[in-house]
Amino acid sequence: MRYLSTRGHADPKRFCEILLEGLAPDGGLYMPSSYPQVDAATLEKWRGLSYAELAFEILSLYIDDVTAADLKALCDKTYTASVFATPEIVPLRALDGNLYLEGLSNGPTLAFKDIAMQLLGNLFEYELARRGEELNVLGATSGDTGSAAEYAMRGKKGIRVFMTSPHGRMSPFQQAQMFSLQDENIHNIAIEGVFDDCQDIVKAVSNDLAFKRKYKIGTVNSINWARLLAQVVYYFAGYLRSTSSAQQRVAFAVPSGNFGNICAGHVARMMGLPISHLVVATNENDLLDEFFRTGVYRVRSGSDTHETSSPSMDISKASNFERFAFDLLGRDPVRTKALFHDALLAAGGFDLHADASFAAASVRFGFRSGRSTHADRLATIRDTWERLDTMIDPHTADGVKVAREHMTAGVPMIVLETALPVKFSAIFEEALGRTPDRPARFDGIENLPKRMQVMPADVDAVKRYIVERVGL
Ligand SMILES: *Cc1c(COP(=O)(O)O)cnc(C)c1O
Repeated sequence: MRYLSTRGHADPKRFCEILLEGLAPDGGLYMPSSYPQVDAATLEKWRGLSYAELAFEILSLYIDDVTAADLKALCDKTYTASVFATPEIVPLRALDGNLYLEGLSNGPTLAFKDIAMQLLGNLFEYELARRGEELNVLGATSGDTGSAAEYAMRGKKGIRVFMTSPHGRMSPFQQAQMFSLQDENIHNIAIEGVFDDCQDIVKAVSNDLAFKRKYKIGTVNSINWARLLAQVVYYFAGYLRSTSSAQQRVAFAVPSGNFGNICAGHVARMMGLPISHLVVATNENDLLDEFFRTGVYRVRSGSDTHETSSPSMDISKASNFERFAFDLLGRDPVRTKALFHDALLAAGGFDLHADASFAAASVRFGFRSGRSTHADRLATIRDTWERLDTMIDPHTADGVKVAREHMTAGVPMIVLETALPVKFSAIFEEALGRTPDRPARFDGIENLPKRMQVMPADVDAVKRYIVERVGL
C-alpha cells in the first residue's frame, strides 16, 4: 500500500513514513492509493473474531512495512479488557426500534479518541525504537484530545508529551484526568489564557523549523492517517454485531466535528462494508450539515463559532473534510487544491451545488446530515433516560437526535457514542436534575495530587520549558 496527498504531491509513501508526519509536504492530507476490498465471504469469516483480531485483519490491509507478527502483537497489546474496561472493547447496546448505540468511550479517558490514540501510542513507540529516534509531542487541548494523547503516551519509551491547556477552563473532571498523571514523560502546561492562545503557541513553536528539528517536535492531531485507520475497525465491529448475514445493510450516525470519525466510516464503506447511509450529526456549528444539504462549504469566523453544550464539536472548519472531498471530486488533486487551498484562502469557502459531484455525496457515497441544538440535546438526554433507562452524553445526544430523523425500515441504525456522561456533567443538572453516573474507577479522581506548570501565554517561556526538559 502506498499513500498519496490529496493535493497531488508526487512522492507516494509507505505507512511508517507517514505515521509520524502531519500534513503532506504540499499541505494536503495523506490517503491510501486505493481501498482494499472486503467481500461478503471475508466478512463472514471475521464474524467470530475478537476486537484485537479484527483490528489486525483490517490494519494488515493498509500496513505492509511492519511484520505481521509485530502488528499482531501491537493490536493485542492495545485492545485489552484492562485498557477498555470491557472484553468487547466497543459493546453494542439496543435502544429502541432498530436503533443501536455503539459504546466507543470505555477507554482510559472516556471518549472515543482513546480507541485510535491508544494504538497510536504503541505504534509510535515501536517505530521510534526501530529508528533509534525520540519524539516530543507538543499539543493544545481544551479537553478530550490532550487527555487521550497523554493516556496513550504515558510511560512510552522515546516519547515526551508537552500539552498546553487553558488554565482553569477545563472541567474539574478533565483537569483531574490530565493533571493527576505522575508519569515523568508527561508535561502539563496550564497557559494563562484561552484555548486559542494555546493553539497559537503550538503553531509558533512548530513554525520555528530549526527549533522543531533540534527538539524533535511532533503532533498527534486528528489529520493523522493512523488515527483514522484505527477508527475504521469499529465500523466493521458494529456491523458484524448488529447483523447475522453479510447480505444485510446498516446505517451509522456520527456526532461530528472535524470529520475524522465519520471519514473512517466513509473508508469502511469504500472497502465494501454494506453501509446504506452515513449520517453526519452536527450541533449549532453546522457547516457540515450545511454542505450536505446545500453544497456550500463555508468556514466560520471566530465570532460565528458557537460555544455549545457539546463542546468537542465546536469547530470553525472540519480538518478531515478534504479527504472525503478528494474522493467526491474523483480523486482530482488539482481541483482539491483549488478548493481547499485557493478558494478557502480567497473566499473562506466554496459552492459545489451546481457541480455534478455534489449529487454523488448522497447518491453514490450515502451521506445524510442533520443538526441539533441545546434544546434538542436536553430533550434527547431526558427521553433516552426516562424511556430507555440509558444515560447519554451531549455529543451522543446530537447523534441520537439526528439518527432518528434518518431511519429506514428494516435497516439498523448505529449511533456512535463518543463520550460518557461524566465527562460533560454540566448539562445533566439541567437535563435530569442530577449528576451523571461515574464509573467506579474514577471515584475521587479530583482529590489526587496534581502535576502541572502554570505559565503565561508566552512562546519563549514554553520553548524554555521544553529545552530544560529535553536537556539538549
Ligand atoms: C472529538 C469528538 C467529536 C468529534 O469527532 P470528529 O472526529 O472531530 O468529527 C465528537 N464527540 C466527542 C466527545 C469528541 O471528543
